[in-house]
Amino acid sequence: MSLHERRLAAVAPGVTSVLSSYVAHASGGTLTDVDGREWIDFGSGIAVTNVGNSAPRVVEAVRAQVEKFTHTCFMVAPYSLYVEVCEQLNALTPGSFGKRSMLVNSGAEAVENAVKIARHATGRQAVVVFDHAYHGRTNLTMALTAKNMPYKQGFGPFAGEIYRVPMSYPLRDGGLSGPAAAAVAIDLISKQVGAGNVAALLIEPIQGEGGFVVPAPGFLPALRAWATSAGAVFIADEIQTGFCRTGDWFASTFEGVEPDLVTTAKGIAGGLPLAGVTGRAEVMDAVHAGGLGGTYGGNPIACAAALASIETMRELSLTEAATSIEAVMLPRLRALAGRDSRIAEVRGRGAMLAVEIVAPGTLVPDPAATAALAAACHAGGLLTLTCGTYGNVLRFLPPLVISDTELDRGLEILDSAFAAVG
Ligand SMILES: *Cc1c(COP(=O)(O)O)cnc(C)c1O
Repeated sequence: MSLHERRLAAVAPGVTSVLSSYVAHASGGTLTDVDGREWIDFGSGIAVTNVGNSAPRVVEAVRAQVEKFTHTCFMVAPYSLYVEVCEQLNALTPGSFGKRSMLVNSGAEAVENAVKIARHATGRQAVVVFDHAYHGRTNLTMALTAKNMPYKQGFGPFAGEIYRVPMSYPLRDGGLSGPAAAAVAIDLISKQVGAGNVAALLIEPIQGEGGFVVPAPGFLPALRAWATSAGAVFIADEIQTGFCRTGDWFASTFEGVEPDLVTTAKGIAGGLPLAGVTGRAEVMDAVHAGGLGGTYGGNPIACAAALASIETMRELSLTEAATSIEAVMLPRLRALAGRDSRIAEVRGRGAMLAVEIVAPGTLVPDPAATAALAAACHAGGLLTLTCGTYGNVLRFLPPLVISDTELDRGLEILDSAFAAVG
């Protein structure tokens, strides 16, 4: 039986894969399958391996830690690595106020905990989220996520007290200014939820799964200011945008937004499962002793990997690397858009870039063409991912350590794919 046949027999079909090949090893910018085929990596395991796969410092730190101890449970017998990761998160996230952090295993778990903390700290229940938002696949985070298929279909009933308002989406909201788009959202919140009932406003500074939607300038600051006036906790979900991906440590920084709470995961630990909630000390301190935790949260091996990843990001100046990737990719993507009228927009920041695919001359999403283009990239040796509410966004998330040659080769394959898919 082939590996793929064994997978079909053994693995639940609800779990799917982009590639039909099986990985043998991976490096800073490529994946190699068990038959020796190679792909340039424009996915980073969904914005996780920002420091590359098996980054040397991460390998060394994991190896050293696994020999010392693998698990004690921080709630039972604490260790310094957990404290050190929290110190790093407190120092690196936006805002110069006093902060605390807690560690968990996945992004969804971080979002769940941020909502728990915000509700406890405010004594309120309502959570405001946005169109196109993605926050995870657990019960609460499915409710927070916008898109039905494939994330929510058949999995209800969902958690209550979640309210959705329009996102600033310059391509599709008639080019509303950021402050005007925020005014629309704030008016809906005031009229339909009541400002005094809002525990938290939860937003991705640049949306991930929802289509790499970059809100118009001024949208995030206006919402931040409204949350302050309403006494609501402003939570930035930086799970996909964090850890140098957009050209700074966190994307909120570009608009000078200081969230009350920040959720982190994906890029934090070079591929090991770790996530966190970081925020204002007075908000984090509201929860009673024992109210937060989890068996594996802040696992020592994952913490060692996180510290090594953060050290790698500093040592290799990966914020600058993301900006350099943008400087190479944006002109190439814009030139491609100039030749190919299926691209309605090139957008993103740093090494988090995307093209939105439509029927030429319209704004009608073309998910079939998007899937065909992604398949042509895969066949040509480039791993790209799709996203978007309409499934019509091709997104590019190269590891921040990708070489110039690999980046250039990836862009050539992308050009060829657009030329080949008629
Ligand atoms: C991936 C993601 C999540 C969920 O993270 P998991 O680790 O898959 O649970 C939440 N929010 C955003 C913005 C994400 O990109």
